[in-house]
Amino acid sequence: MRCHVCGALMGETRTDLPFKVTERSIVVVRDVPVIQCSGCREYLLSDSVMERLDELPAAANTKADLEILTFAA
Ligand SMILES: [Zn+2]
Repeated sequence: MRCHVCGALMGETRTDLPFKVTERSIVVVRDVPVIQCSGCREYLLSDSVMERLDELPAAANTKADLEILTFAA
């Protein structure tokens, strides 16, 4: 697969992604499987990963300013 931004090859890897869940709080999810560009760091998420990430704000402690979760496949 090639990057739609720069045309470089993309490969599967894992990364940490931050999500803003409310005005005051951010959830960082560790070890999220992504398909990432080797050229510009653009990344894609698969549908199943996207669905899991949609559920995460409900599981997070939104009273904390910063919550760190690990993506469980
Ligand atoms: Zn790229």
